[in-house]
Amino acid sequence: MSDLSVAMPANMAELQALFRAAAGPIRLIAGGTDMLIAGRPLPVGGLLVDISRIADMAFVSADASGICVGGATTVAAIAADLEIRSRLPALAEAAAQCGSIQIRNRATIGGNIANAAPAADLLPVLVAAEARLACIGRDGATCELAICDYSPDRGYLIAEVFLPSGGFFSRSAFVKLGPRRDLSISRLNLALLGEFQDARFGDVRVVAGALGPRPRRLPLAEEALTGNRLERATLRGFLSALADEVDAAIPGRSSQAYKRRAIAGLGLDLVAQAVGLSPREQLFQDAVE
Ligand SMILES: Cc1cc2nc3c(=O)[nH]c(=O)nc-3n(C[C@H](O)[C@H](O)[C@H](O)COP(=O)(O)OP(=O)(O)OC[C@H]3O[C@@H](n4cnc5c(N)ncnc54)[C@H](O)[C@@H]3O)c2cc1C
Repeated sequence: MSDLSVAMPANMAELQALFRAAAGPIRLIAGGTDMLIAGRPLPVGGLLVDISRIADMAFVSADASGICVGGATTVAAIAADLEIRSRLPALAEAAAQCGSIQIRNRATIGGNIANAAPAADLLPVLVAAEARLACIGRDGATCELAICDYSPDRGYLIAEVFLPSGGFFSRSAFVKLGPRRDLSISRLNLALLGEFQDARFGDVRVVAGALGPRPRRLPLAEEALTGNRLERATLRGFLSALADEVDAAIPGRSSQAYKRRAIAGLGLDLVAQAVGLSPREQLFQDAVE
C-alpha cells in the first residue's frame, strides 16, 4: 500500500501552513501534463500537494511596472490574455504553440518552468524578458529569484512569475521547429525581443531552447542585428552567427549538422515575425541564396 497522502489547499495561506507542518517529502502537481506521463515514476510516499485549485495562483495582472502571472496559470490563459498579447506577444505565441488544446488547458507556467525540459517553449521568452520568480520554500518562507537562478532541485514552489516592463521591447517573436505541425515538442525554438524602427534594429535579445540543457542567450546573433538595417547583408550576418552559435553550443553532437541548417530557416521566420513581414518576402529569400 502507498504511503502517499494528497492535499488540495484552496488558498496560499493553507498551502504555506501545509508546507510548515509537513515532516516528510513534498511533491507538487499542477496540470499533471508532465508528471502523469506514462513511464515516469510517480511519487510513492510523502505528501502530494495539488496546487491546481488555488484560486490566487491562477491569474494575470498588469500595471505600469509589468505583468504578473500566477504560477498555476494555464498556458491556454496565457495565450489568450490581451495584456500579454499586446505587451509581450512572443509569450502568447509560445503558449499558443505548446502541445494541444487539451494540454494547454491543463499545463501551467509554473510546471513548464519547474519541469525545466530543454525544449520547454515558454522558457526562452521568459529568459529573454528577464522574468523574476516569487517562490515559497519548504519552510513556508518567500523569496524572489531571477529566472536564470531558478533550479528545480531546490524544491521551491513558483507562486508568481513577474515580467518587468523594462524587459518589454517594441517587437517580440517566438518560433519553434518540431517533428510535426501540432502537438510537437520543440527540436529547436527561438525567442527574440528587440527594438526596430525605420527599418533598423535597436537593442535585441535572442534566446534559443533545445540547444543545451537550459535556454541559451545567443550574443553573436544579437550582435549581428543590433544597430543594423534590415537588409540582405544583415540577415546573412545573422544566419552565419546563428550557425556559429549552434557550433559553440553542441560541438560534436549528432544533432549539430541538422540544427546548424535548421536554425537558418527558423532564424528568418523569427526576424520576419518580429518585424511583421512574411518570410516569403524577396528580402528573406535573397538572404539564403
Ligand atoms: C502530449 C504533450 C505535449 C506537450 N507539448 C509541449 C509543448 O509543445 N511545449 C512545452 O513547452 N511543453 C509541452 N509539454 C510539457 C508540459 O505540458 C508543460 O511542461 C507544462 O507546462 C507542465 O505544466 P503542468 O502544470 O502540467 O506540470 P505538472 O505535470 O503538474 O508538474 C511538472 C513538474 O513541475 C512541478 N511543478 C508544477 N507546478 C509547480 C510550481 N508552481 N512550482 C514549482 N514546481 C511546480 C511538479 O512538481 C513537477 O515536478 C507537453 C506535454 C505532453 C504530455
